[in-house]
Amino acid sequence: MTTENTPQEYLDDSQRAQLMTQLAQTPDLLGELDTTLARDHRFTLPGQTGRPAGSTQPLPYRVDASDAIDALHVVLRVYSYRIANRTGDGWPPEDTAGQARWLRQRLPFVAGTEPVLSGLAHAVTAAYYRAMDVIDRPPERWHLGACAACGNDIDCTAGEQIAECVHCGDQVNVPARRAEMLRRAAKLFGDAEEWARLLPWVGGFSVTADALTKAGQRGKLPRYTIDGRIVYQLGDILDWNAARLARLTGVYLNG
Ligand SMILES: [Zn+2]
Repeated sequence: MTTENTPQEYLDDSQRAQLMTQLAQTPDLLGELDTTLARDHRFTLPGQTGRPAGSTQPLPYRVDASDAIDALHVVLRVYSYRIANRTGDGWPPEDTAGQARWLRQRLPFVAGTEPVLSGLAHAVTAAYYRAMDVIDRPPERWHLGACAACGNDIDCTAGEQIAECVHCGDQVNVPARRAEMLRRAAKLFGDAEEWARLLPWVGGFSVTADALTKAGQRGKLPRYTIDGRIVYQLGDILDWNAARLARLTGVYLNG
């Protein structure tokens, strides 16, 4: 992020137009990443209607989504503060989506030759495409919750069997830990779109939102209504999927 030793890059008109589009889409992109991440996702537990339960029900969240959010956060924070410093007309908001909106409002009034804008287009574009990439990609790393020995967060490469805590060296059986996290999360509710996005890495299989909706309509998957939304419980989806797989395998074996 330092520009001291690199030649200054001016912001040309096409870069400026591209940047304005990317900044306009960043708040939505951050929303998508949050859903993909699910760490702070507003899951609803029975009897806790509408209350966020993310902190008490950790899911094996995606480290790449977390990293993509951090990358956008760093870029937007650095440049919005640089511009605020230069223009002197107030400070940007604390949140990343707010900083994207703030930058988008200020950018048209800052000349492309201003040194504070040097490197901005490349930095935002890189973070933007990294985030876009995460949304359409299976997870590379899994979060495994806190280390039982030292309490630090543990994550591992997707598919690994044994993970080691980088802080204390304690070892974790990855399939067992993921199954345990999944079991604890079985009572969580989400709508069809949320589960379609989360299942590939939470449950290790893919189901379209459409398939979940149809299974619900046909009475094969229990449906619940919370706050006017039709939602499904993770445990029910896992049971439904296991039954579906057994049926498919049976059909296949019987020719
Ligand atoms: Zn540890």
